[in-house]
Amino acid sequence: MRTNFYARNRVDLFFGQAEFEDKNTVLVKGTVKGDERLRAKNVVIATGSRPYSPTDIDFSHPRIYNSDTVLNLEHTPKTMIIYGAGVIGSEYASIFSGLGVKVDLIDSQSRLLSFLDAEISDSLSYHLRNSAVKIRHNETYETVEADERGVTLTLQSGKKVRADAFLWCNGRTGNTDMLKLENIGLQANGRGQIKVDEFYRTECEGIYACGDVIGWPALASAAIDQGVLHLLICWMRMTSVSSTTCQPVFIPFLKSAQSVKRKSS
Ligand SMILES: Cc1cc2nc3c(=O)[nH]c(=O)nc-3n(C[C@H](O)[C@H](O)[C@H](O)COP(=O)(O)OP(=O)(O)OC[C@H]3O[C@@H](n4cnc5c(N)ncnc54)[C@H](O)[C@@H]3O)c2cc1C
Repeated sequence: MRTNFYARNRVDLFFGQAEFEDKNTVLVKGTVKGDERLRAKNVVIATGSRPYSPTDIDFSHPRIYNSDTVLNLEHTPKTMIIYGAGVIGSEYASIFSGLGVKVDLIDSQSRLLSFLDAEISDSLSYHLRNSAVKIRHNETYETVEADERGVTLTLQSGKKVRADAFLWCNGRTGNTDMLKLENIGLQANGRGQIKVDEFYRTECEGIYACGDVIGWPALASAAIDQGVLHLLICWMRMTSVSSTTCQPVFIPFLKSAQSVKRKSS
């Protein structure tokens, strides 16, 4: 279905691992035709993110999961520690408690999802607690040790929590390590994220980035909006079409796009 959607809109799809050769050339490795070289004036980096994995936790242990590997869970734990109480951790706490798993949710902050209105955050805490989720605020891990029978989490406060499984939901890292950003003079930060300005331009002319790879808010809805804004900016730069012509489609983005056009002209 998705392939048809792209074909209908005359979008060519290349399946493979992409990297930069220079700012106008992307090498796509491992496509059905072998390696293919694509050339373009503008490139958008939208390579997303993956769970951040600190090296002092053994993610190869069968009782230790991250938000991707937990989807392959092959046993049914009775108890689970979820470390990280952001959007993903809170979501999994709700899912697993709903499945009857006794969940310990470890939060490094003093309230859940503190960027939300306090009443929504309080309401979330109330409903999670009502589903027997034990929320521990202001806690940071010291060690995570797994054995054949379970996982022991030792917190910096000195508390120890034991469970059948451990799910790490504390942060994500941008998928930039394979992109050869050095070939276009860019460098990702320590979390693999690319710096952009308010119009999603990177420091390299003609290279944009959007979605999880630029960090917060890292939501699908934000990634879509950022992608659309980028397209509009490129389109207005390449054409002489007045902004009023595209108003019905692009109203939310017009102001930003016009401002970019003014700055760049
Ligand atoms: C458990 C979980 C629950 C979530 N729930 C929600 C939710 O309820 N609502 C919401 O809005 N968001 C949610 N999100 C966040 C949402 O999934 C992301 O914000 C969104 O997918 C980001 O889109 P993206 O296009 O930036 O990256 P992605 O969707 O990750 O897409 C990036 C793509 O690029 C590919 N790629 C990476 N590197 C290369 C390369 N070198 N060459 C070629 N291809 C490459 C990847 O394989 C991937 O296909 C959730 C995320 C998780 C993990």
